[in-house]
Amino acid sequence: MAGNKASSMETHATGSTLFGLMSSLLDAVDKPLLVSDRGGRVLFANLHAQDALSWKDDPDEARRNLFRDVLHVDSKGLFGQLEGGEQEVNLPVESAHGPARARIRWLPEPDWLVVFAEPAPVDVPINQDQMRQTVNDLLQEREITYRNLLAAYLRLQEVNRQKTVFLGSAAHELKTPLAVMKGYYDLLLSGSLGHLAEKQREILQESKQSCDRLVRLVSTFLNYTALESGKLVLQFQDNDIRDCLNDVVVRWNEAFQRANVHFETQFDEQLPVFKFDYPKIQQCITNLVDNALKHTPKGGRVLLGAKPHFWERRVTPAAPPKEERRSTRRPHPNSVLISVADTGVGISAEYHQEIFEDFVRVDPSSSGMGLGLAITKRLIQAHHGKIWVDSEPGRGSSFKFLLPTKVEAYGYA
Ligand code: ADP
Repeated sequence: MAGNKASSMETHATGSTLFGLMSSLLDAVDKPLLVSDRGGRVLFANLHAQDALSWKDDPDEARRNLFRDVLHVDSKGLFGQLEGGEQEVNLPVESAHGPARARIRWLPEPDWLVVFAEPAPVDVPINQDQMRQTVNDLLQEREITYRNLLAAYLRLQEVNRQKTVFLGSAAHELKTPLAVMKGYYDLLLSGSLGHLAEKQREILQESKQSCDRLVRLVSTFLNYTALESGKLVLQFQDNDIRDCLNDVVVRWNEAFQRANVHFETQFDEQLPVFKFDYPKIQQCITNLVDNALKHTPKGGRVLLGAKPHFWERRVTPAAPPKEERRSTRRPHPNSVLISVADTGVGISAEYHQEIFEDFVRVDPSSSGMGLGLAITKRLIQAHHGKIWVDSEPGRGSSFKFLLPTKVEAYGYA
């Protein structure tokens, strides 16, 4: 049959000897193999194919067609797939030995189809015991992976802790020399060591500002490491929040004047005295004011505000009795709302949460370590308060935080 069907193949071979050799070689392939032209006319079928298709002693062999007699598919659809870029199309076929899978490839140059057949893959049923064994193996593997991951995580955590401790002690070492430098700048600028020319004063002033910035960075870092290592202990005492705010205003007035940014305040008359850690809340306000100044161009405005506020928490302490609720139309303030609003560059919404995370800076070229807001948030949360920002790019930012004033109700005093 191979010899009879091979007319067009012969035209591509260099002679009958070569074709005979090829036929023998293809017969030696231990899988059924068929070659057809585009119309499906079978040009060659090796011995395995003839056997699988029971064609060996069939007198009708000259009229065999791949699509009609073997694959039972429409040639257009098959060529659509192959010419559309598929390397190989697999189709189920029936052979004399049972179900088989035909793997069809296209040779564009002679425009032939080459078909290999192999036994169809069989779904081996898994019995219950095998299944249980497989599930157990998988569970064991997962357990080992989990333990390895946990061990790696704990190692990383320890390395991270050591790094924080190291950086913390490095920052601590910087504190004393910086304090000495700052003292000398103040001394020189006061004029008690001799008169200063205008240029000298200007340079000293700038150096002092840089020194102040370094002191703030070091103190930020020390606070961060203290918070990270759980060493920070808050001192809750009755304090006047108005004093705390005014301290910040006094310290920052000059910096605002130099930057030509208006610094305004709006403090409500009714601000209460309540328990909070004075230096820590002062640091929070300072961080927000510092940021507002840093991100507001010349001629802009920064408004520091504070007022009593009723904060309706989702988990509220025991509700007052019904009669009491009816009589109180307007709820009593239970917190203080502090806000720092600026007319600066603003922050796009996608960063409103992220900026409160460690080491996040929206503009990486700006000075700072991206820790100020992260520390502020932790300190405020340690006071059972909350902080958030309202902002739009180009329309300024308004940072706000709430501090509860009825602290006993939240479990600390
Ligand atoms: P840093 O100490 O580096 O300023 P912060 O944690 O205080 O870090 O702030 C994180 C980032 O949030 C800043 O890098 C800045 O991009 C952005 N940001 C904070 N405050 C303002 C503000 N008032 N206006 C615009 N961007 C701000």
